[in-house]
Amino acid sequence: MLISIIIPTFNEEKVITECYNRLVNVFTAQSLGDYEFLFINDGSHDGTLEILKGIASVDKHVQIVDFSRNFGHQAAVTAGLHECRGDLAIIMDADLQDPPEVIPEMLKIREKEKCNVVYGVRTTRKGENFFKTQTAKLFYRFLNFISNENFPLDAGDFRLVDKSIITVFKSLPERNKYIRGLIGWLGFKQCPVYYERDPRFAGTTKYPLRKMLRFAAVGLFYFSKKPLKLATNIGFLSIVIGLAFALFLFLNVIFKFDYVVTGWTSTIIIIIVFGGVQLLTIGVLGQYIGNLFDEVKGRPEYIISEKINFAGSSNTSDEQEK
Ligand code: UDP
Ligand code: MG
Repeated sequence: MLISIIIPTFNEEKVITECYNRLVNVFTAQSLGDYEFLFINDGSHDGTLEILKGIASVDKHVQIVDFSRNFGHQAAVTAGLHECRGDLAIIMDADLQDPPEVIPEMLKIREKEKCNVVYGVRTTRKGENFFKTQTAKLFYRFLNFISNENFPLDAGDFRLVDKSIITVFKSLPERNKYIRGLIGWLGFKQCPVYYERDPRFAGTTKYPLRKMLRFAAVGLFYFSKKPLKLATNIGFLSIVIGLAFALFLFLNVIFKFDYVVTGWTSTIIIIIVFGGVQLLTIGVLGQYIGNLFDEVKGRPEYIISEKINFAGSSNTSDEQEK
């Protein structure tokens, strides 16, 4: 049985060697079976690629897929799942927040429970600030509420997937991926493994707030049509309020129960509120249209500039698109 470890890396020169060493230790200490470490270099502009190439030249278990530029974490994981040859694949971060020592336990759970996916659930998250852990917590719950799905809470992309999952995943056409949600949505048998998330080994997070928000939006708008419904409902409510107000004004003209010439305040308030409602609903529509636009263009999710240690690749620079 061949196990592929998929590791997306972006500017991780400070952690990559340690990551490799810890993985090798796990695999050799317990003879877990044959393995390949598939590092996806997501357009790093530090020494990551050089270090990886150094490791790959002495250890043929190490494979590198080098992107032509930074395409993002989800694209890197996707490339890993497309390129891996294993009967099983395990997705993990390079920064050792997902400890490789959990891998044997994942394999055991798979064996025992006969499940197709073993997903890591973080019992604690060390070394991450209050804002990040709390917003993440809130977001996972909100996503479950709004999408009517039952995604496992507090689970990231650290997970084991078997061949049947990999095969179906490869056939999915969507380009902007929210992988943790997609794999959950696939079904099959999925079991949790509980682990403590360690602090990052070295370096800083590659997920600034901007990227985090974009990622959350993909999860939200790809799994739920509720924002569209909400926009419709707000629009409908506005019409009802507008009609009620119109009725009041009309009756006022007839019965003259209000002689004072007022109206500036109410007019301005109405213009502002209804203007806001319109912009909001257009914005929601825009999000969906933007996503449609992305999907319709059909551009590749990532572009590979080089593959190293792949059978038949002979370390050449072959321009490839996926
Ligand atoms: N990563 C990537 N491309 C990106 C951003 C991140 O491949 O554009 C990788 C990164 O090298 C790491 C993993 O994705 O292995 C998770 O990123 P990070 O640890 O910075 O995120 P955090 O754990 O802080 O959410
Ligand atoms: Mg991390």
